[in-house]
Amino acid sequence: EKKVNIIGIKFNHISMKQAIDLVMGYLVTANEKTHMICTPNPEIVMIAQKEGRLKEIINSSDLVVPDGIGIVKAAKILGNPLPERVAGYDLVQNVFRKISKTVHTVYFLGGAPGVAEIAAKNMMEKHPGLKVIGYQDGYFSQDKEKTIIEEINSLSPDLLLVGFGAPKQEFWISDNKNKLKVKACIGVGGSFDVMSG
Ligand code: UDP
Repeated sequence: EKKVNIIGIKFNHISMKQAIDLVMGYLVTANEKTHMICTPNPEIVMIAQKEGRLKEIINSSDLVVPDGIGIVKAAKILGNPLPERVAGYDLVQNVFRKISKTVHTVYFLGGAPGVAEIAAKNMMEKHPGLKVIGYQDGYFSQDKEKTIIEEINSLSPDLLLVGFGAPKQEFWISDNKNKLKVKACIGVGGSFDVMSG
């Protein structure tokens, strides 16, 4: 797997189409592994310079794609170009289009109270056949976390979208990956706000 190193952050050298195929592949794997997908933008690459743990989380993810055109430009200047921008929002929309034709399910975690529910409704309208089987806002107290993870596991969605903003969502996914019974997790930043609008 070819990687492109941008000041210490290792991006997969892949196109949008290849990224979609990889994510779809994660959803059908028979093993117990929870795959993690990161879509760093330039801001996150900068934060990771000072936050060693964030850098480690990103670099140990299964798939790392460039959210911003700034990353693609930097890669070109550094002489190690990336095929194209693979924005998290676009990747998720493309995966929704594919997954809507399958049995695979999705859970939305994050956003202000009520937002994920509207986002789920909108996305199921936009992508007929899409199965968003649960949602939960991102403003729960720490003592609720265990219950929320239990709910997610009882539904066992194939894909979990976590929208707490970066890098909060990356830390959360990393901390809880081993407890989650999902095939893949992706940090989606403020995407639920966009999907609900
Ligand atoms: N959010 C959340 N829980 C928190 C803090 C933030 O669910 O404790 C949500 C917030 O409602 C918003 C998203 O995280 O939907 C952050 O969006 P932003 O655009 O700031 O994130 P970015 O896309 O820049 O990572």
